[in-house]
Amino acid sequence: MTAPLRIPTLPGHDFMLPPNLEGLRELAYNLWWSWTPRAGALFARIDSAAWGRSRSPIAVLSGIGPARWSELLADEDFMVDASRLLDEFERYLANGSDSWYRRATDADVNAALPGPVAYFCAEYGIHESMQIYSGGLGILAGDHCKSASDAALPFIAVGLLYRRGYFRQQIDADGHQEHAQPYVDPTMHPLRRARARDGSALQVAIDYPGRMVHAAVWVAQVGRVPLLLLDTDIPANDGADRPITHILYVRGREMRLCQELVLGVGGVRALRGLGIEPAAWHLNEGHSAFLLLERARELMAADLSLNAGEALRRVGRDAVFTIHTPVAAGNEVFERGLVTKQLAPWLDATEMPPSDLLELGRGRTDEPDAPFDMTAFVLRLASDANAVSRLHAATASETWEPISGHPIGPITNGIHLATWLGRPIRRLYERATGLSLGSDAAGPEAFSKLDGVSDEDLWGAHRQQKRELIEFMRRRLARQFARHGESPDVLRELHAAFDPEALTIGFARRFATYKRADLIFRDEDRLAALLGNPNRRVQVVLAGKAHPADRPGQRVIQRIFTLTRSEPLRGRVFMLEDYDMRIARFLVGGVDLWLNNPRRPLEASGTSGMKAAANGIPSLSVLDGWWDEGFNGRNGWAIGGREMLEDEEAQDAADAAELYRILEEEVVPRFYTRDAGGLPDAWVATMRASIEAAIWQFSTARMLGEYVERLYLPVALRAPATV
Ligand SMILES: *Cc1c(COP(=O)(O)O)cnc(C)c1O
Repeated sequence: MTAPLRIPTLPGHDFMLPPNLEGLRELAYNLWWSWTPRAGALFARIDSAAWGRSRSPIAVLSGIGPARWSELLADEDFMVDASRLLDEFERYLANGSDSWYRRATDADVNAALPGPVAYFCAEYGIHESMQIYSGGLGILAGDHCKSASDAALPFIAVGLLYRRGYFRQQIDADGHQEHAQPYVDPTMHPLRRARARDGSALQVAIDYPGRMVHAAVWVAQVGRVPLLLLDTDIPANDGADRPITHILYVRGREMRLCQELVLGVGGVRALRGLGIEPAAWHLNEGHSAFLLLERARELMAADLSLNAGEALRRVGRDAVFTIHTPVAAGNEVFERGLVTKQLAPWLDATEMPPSDLLELGRGRTDEPDAPFDMTAFVLRLASDANAVSRLHAATASETWEPISGHPIGPITNGIHLATWLGRPIRRLYERATGLSLGSDAAGPEAFSKLDGVSDEDLWGAHRQQKRELIEFMRRRLARQFARHGESPDVLRELHAAFDPEALTIGFARRFATYKRADLIFRDEDRLAALLGNPNRRVQVVLAGKAHPADRPGQRVIQRIFTLTRSEPLRGRVFMLEDYDMRIARFLVGGVDLWLNNPRRPLEASGTSGMKAAANGIPSLSVLDGWWDEGFNGRNGWAIGGREMLEDEEAQDAADAAELYRILEEEVVPRFYTRDAGGLPDAWVATMRASIEAAIWQFSTARMLGEYVERLYLPVALRAPATV
């Protein structure tokens, strides 16, 4: 076995620790803590206020003075727990041999792979404290890295450090979405500068028309996996270039293109600066497409007989691509003029005629001025590509096969269990399987042991998670109501409104209009009747952001918010603001039913329903994305069938009617039917079926195994592109 990749770094933010707690430094700098609840609990014990405020161990440790350390050093329980945790952490880092993949295939992936997999993505959702993600794509990338770490796969990830991140949402008293920009201060996060071979802080230079732009390279360590994050906000750059990497999914098209040059070109140069020779290159979405340009330029510099077209074809051989959405707006295109302007240095260096490059980026159109389509560009060059569910593979192949030249097969998304399971449910799993989910990689065989968990224990663990959700919502909504100037009586009314016994329906996701967040509000009277039955109480919780440029999405938020504050839905429907990974964890762990009703087939996969299912929370969903293959008749409910009407309005009406019918006739009766002991036994059977169907099949452990076998190994074992 080869040792995990170690990226040399400079020391991080300077703070003092007592010598016998020095181990906490590496722990704080390794995001392993983000999926190890005991680690979070330990940092909270050190300073609960600082942990509550920042949820960042570096921020916590930076603020502790000698007096508090003396107290902790004298606290025997604390010292024992800290040393156990540090032992576990050390074992996790050292133990590269106990991966599921290795046990299952009996193959040593490290030996088979001549170098690491380099994974490129525009966003990473590792933990809520690092706001460099916006939604599903980022969370999936984070979960992918965590599972690569669990599996001891040689793997290195590359992204951007957005100092202004993705916006934070506040909803004002009239329901308008307000956009606040966070500030990501690298010194308060587990980020250290990568060290160049000469010992200085590594910095890469990227060619732009008439100048070079420099990027710092930060390392965020995710268990065994290093994540490199590039950052142009450094003194070496002109003031006009420093904001290039500030904002995730920045609106300005030219700025976006400049940003993607940092990711693609800068990312390759960062790997080279560290002496890393990847064996496979994974482009997760098209934003990193320009890495192919940089690698082609490298190849041409090494072999002067190559022309640019041939070099691009060669570097595509060890590149694989994952397409993530059938929605047109999700596939990045740039005006031709912007591309030839910003890529002028590359075009000069390679002597490729601009029109040839533009043709490689031609989408499915014959128009002479068609914009440069990043998805089409990568699909033409990459040796293989996958979609993120079976249904998505069918729609993606239909759209893209004329360009890719081969069908696009599915590797269905998954979730990282240790990140998304609530603690009570996780304890049940760990007791039943004998595994520690944060340290051991569990294979499919482990989860067959869940049969041994009793209905009472499962229901009890779920109720505990639901209580935690309700406490969390009370605190969050009280803060929101107070900000809106509501009276103390209204705050008291709010506190009483939450009913821990009521059937609680959750809906949280981006408020893109195809997701139809307002479908359940289509017939307000029918919904009010459903929620208003005092003997069978039902409540709904929603959360989600609309992109700052998405006005229709913002109007949906406003409409729903207004409904939550007026009769007859007031006190039965709640809207949490600033949806993030933390809110997601509470919701997917604590509601009773997960609702998803996109317009089929526009949801490529969806992962929030998988998170809910692993926690024993069934889905009520349109047969779209993962649910099209995940629904088995026992683990939840399907809204409608697989045939869609041409007329969107008629489809919405039909789906809404079916949604109400299922809630009224199936969901509510099943939830409220109790056995002699007060247990909703039929409901618990549905919960169990949810877990059984999801726990392995929709985990990133299973998903990663498929990436290794179907994409990484085949391209890595092919003759390398780079000589
Ligand atoms: C899981 C998750 C998502 C993606 O869920 P979808 O089902 O794809 O909408 C988005 N945002 C957050 C914060 C999440 O945790």
